[in-house]
Amino acid sequence: MARAEPGWQIVRGGRLADPAQRRAAPADILIEDGVIRAVGAGLAAPEGARELDATGFLLHPGLVNAHTHGHGGLGRGQGDRWTLELLLASAPWVGGSRSLADKRLSALLCAAEMVQKGCTAAYDLYTEVPLPTREGLDAVADAYDTLGMRAVVAPMVADLTLYEAIPGLLEALPEGLRREAEKLRLRPAAETLAAMEEAAKHWRWNAADIRFAIAPTIPHHCSTEFLCGCRDLARAHGVGLHSHVGESKVQAVVGMQRYGTTLTRHMDRLGLVGPGFTVAHGIWLDDEDLRLLADRGASIAHNPVSNMKLGNGMLRLARALELGVNVGLGTDGVTSGDNGNMYEAMRAAAGLSHVQTPDPRGWVSAEQIYRAATLGSARALGFEDIGAIAPGMKADIVFLDLAVPHWIPHNGTMNQLVHAEDATAVRHVMIGGRFVFKDGRHTTLDLARLAIEAEAARERLEAANAAQKALFEALAPVVSSFCAGLAARPYHLGRYLCEAPNSGV
Ligand SMILES: [Zn+2]
Repeated sequence: MARAEPGWQIVRGGRLADPAQRRAAPADILIEDGVIRAVGAGLAAPEGARELDATGFLLHPGLVNAHTHGHGGLGRGQGDRWTLELLLASAPWVGGSRSLADKRLSALLCAAEMVQKGCTAAYDLYTEVPLPTREGLDAVADAYDTLGMRAVVAPMVADLTLYEAIPGLLEALPEGLRREAEKLRLRPAAETLAAMEEAAKHWRWNAADIRFAIAPTIPHHCSTEFLCGCRDLARAHGVGLHSHVGESKVQAVVGMQRYGTTLTRHMDRLGLVGPGFTVAHGIWLDDEDLRLLADRGASIAHNPVSNMKLGNGMLRLARALELGVNVGLGTDGVTSGDNGNMYEAMRAAAGLSHVQTPDPRGWVSAEQIYRAATLGSARALGFEDIGAIAPGMKADIVFLDLAVPHWIPHNGTMNQLVHAEDATAVRHVMIGGRFVFKDGRHTTLDLARLAIEAEAARERLEAANAAQKALFEALAPVVSSFCAGLAARPYHLGRYLCEAPNSGV
């Protein structure tokens, strides 16, 4: 768990990342039972406090991943030129036949990568096939607990398959394949809701800062009855809601077809949009959608690397910030984001804002990106005491070695953190004052042993899911061409470079 290191500690002489300073200055951090009590130069420490010398290090708060999928851990490297819809179609193959141990292992692999790349908390939308289970979600929470990370674990659910959610897709399949696609039907809404209720009722991880939330995966993959059930469950248990809204143009076009309005407004009419609501991606949102999110106190989890990989288009990040939406940063799952590297997410988010206009006044600054990856994401997770090195905050601190080439010389902290850091300078990671990664090694798990387990699981799952893989390969060409047709339809927003100029409202 995010077990706090008991007693007093003082971290001396590290340079503290601070958006207000061009070049981070050395300061001390006084920590009591895993919570920061004071920050400043030349702090006095109570007698018996452990002294840690951080000279030569840049210290920044643990990065917070606002959107990822722990179930992706065993599914890396399967798709190259996959759209989001192909990724969704691959799910029965890539995520099928998992044992309870596989579910835990998958989450553990992702969490291990995040920690060693400077991330200390994550919002994990976790799918179990065919439906969420109390034991499965418990195993995922246990993985975070083992590693010592903070997390929000949200069962990612739907009651309609891709083939039911996209009008006309089933009919576009040849007879034999259609029958196969029909068999993929998901469990009834009531059964999935009951399973989540069971998990929510018995959730035992809050004290470890591993919280529960609910993730109706994509609005139109959920019946209205199901979405309302998710809303009611979230309200009853006081937990967050997280959904992929306007991730692909296909989604935006289908939403308009189905509901006569945007997906954001559809969710809002059903009462899901509020301070505990996070939109994943949010690329195909118009100004009215963004204002609505800002007014309701909702968040966007921006996943720039995944958005590029899946060809979903570009979030207008500067516009979302300008309209007052809280934006966090995420890597997405490793089946689309390919790694859990929040430094890459920061760099991509910055670069992606730079290619949208030749006028640098419209670009998002390194300071804004840094804020999104720390406090912005923390707010999306619903945590008020992480995301900054300041009194009252949890001592979740990353120690970057300033002796690596991309920090020599150290001229501008925020610039180098966002545009140059790639996680290779991460030397130690502390969560709650406790080192979970020290001198370049995990202290809470044996990565080599994990690799052996993962390789065995990969081999077993490959055999077990062979038929699902063959089915995916048969379905993929139809899904791909049908969705490309949908994405070619007009929509009132442009989010691709190849589209008409000035169409990006
Ligand atoms: Zn996602």
